[in-house]
Amino acid sequence: MSQRLVVVSNRVTVPRAGEPQAGGLAVALRGALETYGGLWFGWNGRVGERTGPPEKTEHAGVTYATVPLTRQEHDDYYLGYANEVLWPLCHFMLSAMDYRRSYRDCYWAVNAAFAEHLLPMIGGDDILWIHDYHLIPLADTLRRSGVDRPMGFFLHIPFPSYSLLRALPDHRQILKDLCQYDLLGFQTHDDLRAFRTAVVETMAARILDDDIIEVQGHRLRASVFPVGIEVDELSDLAARSRYSRRVERLLRSLQDRDLVIGVDRLDYSKGLPKRFQSFERFLEQQRNRHGRLVYMQIANPSRSEIPEYQELRRQLEEMAGHINGRFSDFDWMPLRYLHKSFARASLLGFYRNARAALITPLRDGMNLVAKEYVAAQDPDDPGVPVLSELAGAARELEAALLVNPFDIDATAEALERALSMPAEQRRERYHAMIEVLRRNDLTRWREEFLHQLRQGCEAG
Ligand code: UDP
Repeated sequence: MSQRLVVVSNRVTVPRAGEPQAGGLAVALRGALETYGGLWFGWNGRVGERTGPPEKTEHAGVTYATVPLTRQEHDDYYLGYANEVLWPLCHFMLSAMDYRRSYRDCYWAVNAAFAEHLLPMIGGDDILWIHDYHLIPLADTLRRSGVDRPMGFFLHIPFPSYSLLRALPDHRQILKDLCQYDLLGFQTHDDLRAFRTAVVETMAARILDDDIIEVQGHRLRASVFPVGIEVDELSDLAARSRYSRRVERLLRSLQDRDLVIGVDRLDYSKGLPKRFQSFERFLEQQRNRHGRLVYMQIANPSRSEIPEYQELRRQLEEMAGHINGRFSDFDWMPLRYLHKSFARASLLGFYRNARAALITPLRDGMNLVAKEYVAAQDPDDPGVPVLSELAGAARELEAALLVNPFDIDATAEALERALSMPAEQRRERYHAMIEVLRRNDLTRWREEFLHQLRQGCEAG
């Protein structure tokens, strides 16, 4: 129990009061480490030369040790291999994949550099928890340097099916590197199944009982741990938001109109153009709703150096202009499109006042916004999430209105259904969803993962 936890993730945001933060990973992990204590190592978000050892900061019992990335590493490892190769691949979007050997070489080189910086900070009792697609090779590089501590890896994004994975020239190496961990965590059973198929096909792995995989003389455990949220904390924050000036201003601006909300990073996996088309279809079909509702889409800026993201931004601005130009009246605009980010406390207040949420990614590892929206609702008068069945969250939130986001008509119909749903039915659905969220909350996610990691270490 005295084992120290070492968390490694690509990006480490050292907490500073008053700064809004985006990204489910950061939100989820900080709470985990503050409860548990330990070290969090990774990139500090700055670009520059690495001249010395990692910079260390202490906060709430956690040591944050961070390093910058050089310009080339930022471009080739972070933007390149991580976000122009692995991200589109894992989100089933091969057309957005831009594979280059220079990206590949830099990805493995940065992982080796991270391992080198981390090595002197690892103690004999530590357990290591490595996060996400940026750092898949880290265990292999650490093992080569003689680290024999238990290492777990959690993949926050989807794992692609085997036939898609094969489009990646380095897929065998990626699979070999994943097999260096003692414990692998995935968001859903679909992801776990896809991983198992891939290691059976390429590495002649054997699937044993109890989530154990035997591969090349080594045994590892691969299981499902759906990331959760701090349900009660978020519900309380949302309930208190009625005293917030922002929420008050929002409500005043709505003038008793219904609010429909969407909150997503500006990312092609989130399906925003399809969602705007669905909203346009909805407005074509539901004339009686004109003047009586506002759809507010927050699209917080993300990866704006990558051409696909610039093109998406341009496309959404054009679509928003088109929809508002087509349907607005002198005293009403149906769509508010905001290319900016908000603190989570403000978002919770917005969620609570939204009659419906549109959460329609084309593919998503989990989607924490879906869970936060449900947690933020007033139990007596809850709103209804319209949720993509291709988001990991749909596996738990079965009582949401599930849609296939490629079917524009289905999403438009589901929005109308959400807005006209009787209170009794809304409450029933809310209770079913909040119960699942409570059962699989953030603490459980953390504890289950760490429990399994420690168990493996006791078994030797
Ligand atoms: N978020 C935020 N400010 C914003 C937009 C989003 O704090 O302006 C938070 C949101 O509350 C959620 C996270 O960012 O916790 C997004 O996580 P999600 O799993 O939905 O998507 P990701 O961005 O990780 O793909």
